[in-house]
Amino acid sequence: MNEFDVIKTFFKESRFFTNPHKIFKCKSFVGIGDDASVFSPPKGFDLVVSSDLLIEGTHFRSDHTPESIGHKVLAVNLSDIAAMGAEPLCFTLSVNMPKFDSNWLYGFCDGIFNIANETSCKLIGGDTVKSKENAPMFFGITVIGIVPSGKALKRKSMKLNDDIWISGALGDPGEAIKNNFFCEKLLTPQPRLALGKKLLEIANSAIDVSDGLSSDLSHLLEESSKNLKKKIFASIDFLSVASCLGPCLFTNYLKNKLSLDECCSLAVSSGDEYELCFSARKGLRKTIKSLSLELNLPLTRIGEVICERESEKIPGFNIKKNIIWKNTKGLPLKPENYPPDGFKHF
Ligand code: ADP
Ligand code: MG
Repeated sequence: MNEFDVIKTFFKESRFFTNPHKIFKCKSFVGIGDDASVFSPPKGFDLVVSSDLLIEGTHFRSDHTPESIGHKVLAVNLSDIAAMGAEPLCFTLSVNMPKFDSNWLYGFCDGIFNIANETSCKLIGGDTVKSKENAPMFFGITVIGIVPSGKALKRKSMKLNDDIWISGALGDPGEAIKNNFFCEKLLTPQPRLALGKKLLEIANSAIDVSDGLSSDLSHLLEESSKNLKKKIFASIDFLSVASCLGPCLFTNYLKNKLSLDECCSLAVSSGDEYELCFSARKGLRKTIKSLSLELNLPLTRIGEVICERESEKIPGFNIKKNIIWKNTKGLPLKPENYPPDGFKHF
């Protein structure tokens, strides 16, 4: 198969995709097959655009199934869309492969189009290239979503005294990578789209946890500190984090392999979680608890946003760190015992 046959066989066929947004049924829409795609966004909405590059060896391994790789490349992009409180509309897909393997591509397309269908996110274009033999595969995706005008959830709008919340459970992907086993969340992460959309009316700020809660929460605090023009801090309780440990990590505690504090430290540095960390007014605790029931998704309050004056009172306070961690006994961790930062490429 040449490049054009690959595009036609695997990416162009609309049979893969059954429920596009109504704007793609409009006459002016141009999809795969022309030099570029054309569509008009729905009135009253802002466009939300996010890109991610996934490289073999860094973001996925060649022994992962093609279905799970297909799922993951789109899911991680949709997670960014969820963190903005947006709804996905469409995506582009750039594929770079050293060799053509039709069985592999069928599996990859199953994975990617299953989640595309589930989330009503239509493939509207991309690029397909062949690299030198033995070069790693990589996939670049750009997802376009929509959010009611002016309403997108941002990192920079945390407020002093906000509660800090996390969805789902933390720690299993980190354990799986470190100890070389597969866990469902590492292979097929679920972007928290329904939660993100609901948070538009509830949260002050949000971020998705891709590198690890310790570093992603730090980004929220940094951006919001700039916006507020004063430094804010988060105080995070391991006792609350302990109630949202992933099952693999929690088993290590039950088997006495790790203490509860060690589990919490691993949970907050585990990447590849794709959970949402968000902040909201204290008055919204009941609303958030009912949302958790409605979505059948645990939402755990793990701490709060505090000011510099309050942080200074805490023993071992270090102005360079914007998160104060409290162990399961409620005592502040010494800086040398802080959980490691999450994943960084450079
Ligand atoms: P050009 O040479 O202008 O870049 P291409 O031959 O690369 O055009 O692509 C032809 C058409 O196929 C374009 O509409 C492009 O968006 C689409 N396309 C190419 N690769 C993919 C892919 N992996 N997924 C979806 N659409 C693709
Ligand atoms: Mg091209």
